[in-house]
Amino acid sequence: GRGVAMVTAVAARLAAHRRLLEETLAPFRLTREQLAAVQAQMREAMARGLRGEASSLRMLPTYVRATPDGSERGDFLALDLGGTNFRVLLVRVATGGVQISSQIYSIPECVAQGSGQQLFDHIVDCIVDFQQKQGLSGQSLPLGFTFSFPCRQLGLDQVRDGRLGEAILQGFPPNTLFVEWAGGPERASRAASCLPLVPSQGILLTWTKGFNASDCEGQDVVCLLREAIRRRQATELNVVAIVNDTVGTMMSCGYEDPRCEVGLIVGTGTNACYMEELRNVASVAGDSGHMCINMEWGAFGDDGSLGMLSTNFDASVDQASINPGKQRFEKMISGMYLGEIVRHVLLHLTSLGVLFRGQPTQRLQTRDIFKTKFLSEIESDSLALRQVRAILEALGLPLTSDDALMVLEVCQAVSQRAAQLCGAGVAAVVEKIRENRGLEELTVSVGVDGTLYKMHPHFSSLVAATVQELAPRCAVTFLQSEDGSGKGAALVTAVACRLAQMTHV
Ligand code: BGC
Ligand code: MG
Repeated sequence: GRGVAMVTAVAARLAAHRRLLEETLAPFRLTREQLAAVQAQMREAMARGLRGEASSLRMLPTYVRATPDGSERGDFLALDLGGTNFRVLLVRVATGGVQISSQIYSIPECVAQGSGQQLFDHIVDCIVDFQQKQGLSGQSLPLGFTFSFPCRQLGLDQVRDGRLGEAILQGFPPNTLFVEWAGGPERASRAASCLPLVPSQGILLTWTKGFNASDCEGQDVVCLLREAIRRRQATELNVVAIVNDTVGTMMSCGYEDPRCEVGLIVGTGTNACYMEELRNVASVAGDSGHMCINMEWGAFGDDGSLGMLSTNFDASVDQASINPGKQRFEKMISGMYLGEIVRHVLLHLTSLGVLFRGQPTQRLQTRDIFKTKFLSEIESDSLALRQVRAILEALGLPLTSDDALMVLEVCQAVSQRAAQLCGAGVAAVVEKIRENRGLEELTVSVGVDGTLYKMHPHFSSLVAATVQELAPRCAVTFLQSEDGSGKGAALVTAVACRLAQMTHV
């Protein structure tokens, strides 16, 4: 009698909860058609950006014109700013391969969002500390800067009047061997007459992720760094090249695989670069050869074109961010935001009475309690539900087993959508390369870096499956970069140094 009635009531309540959960997660489950539409929109935005027309994709020329061929040599300092960690690296590129020593430094939020001068002074202090610890003080090594923010890159005037060349050669260690690029010296010297060869300037267009230091947007960050070097009298530091992390990643994977013509980051933020035909790049003179284009795809959809896919939860995350309305694609994909999306979904489910017996805890209302790391842990296949509960309890979220299962499903829905959107983007890029070359079938590699991509148990396979589905005529290999940002900055620097020497000999 009563017992049966209670069991039935419980079952009915569970069924109602399940229905509400499904309704809530439905907008995250994208159909093949929706993903194909994202791919098509991405292609259109790419084309408009390359032509210099209004587009949410900036398609920034990087002045990197070929990938390395493995003969690069030398010792370099590198900086990696804009990911999970700020790092200073010593990169030794030698016959036996690349050796890296690095140290992580923290950038407190008050510095990342303080004054630009403070930020760059802090960066130089970290370099000086690193030099001391590595016994490098007084040595002048060329420095490559991986700066993972949208920059308009230039360099033409400096190369033409030779000042950059002088700057690079000054204090460069003797006996350093330089690279032969795939394009060969002949092509490079021919290009020297009309094109900047070295990505040595970067005008910061806008901060992204957690950064918002004042007086930097619109400025050349290489100058800002050099000014800080002067203020600190660390004059032996010689900034040679600046690259985006996507470019560094492509370069570092290209060192081992010449088919690597795409760089992808899915970490704190997300972005991609690839080798485009120069003739398609309206803002750069020249018709032959290639140039790496930094797509800045995190901003895809900032013109409202992703509106159909964006959920209320995405809108809440966007509104609460330091850059509302910006980086809408990034905010659906990258590590800085996925945890926040999950948290907003959990809050909603709580308000429906589906979770936490309808009682929102203080913790759940705290911004950023859910790190990407937790998504990766919670979704790990080897975990029993009880371990999921333990993770959540450690976060201050005491859940029942039913709750834990639902949280797991929320995490899965959010990260699956992220991986599929990312895959749709990659599909657009590789199809573009295939069509550029007029090929029936393209074999291409994508160099990838980023904590979310590397740490999440399913993200990478979902990206690959989506690319296969949407770009069936491309055989795409994903290469995880080892220390791509740092190594890549060093390789670009190596090339910059060689070219500077060449134009002067
Ligand atoms: C930046 C890109 C960067 C990406 C990954 C984005 O927020 O705009 O320049 O490549 O994050 O770090
Ligand atoms: Mg990084």
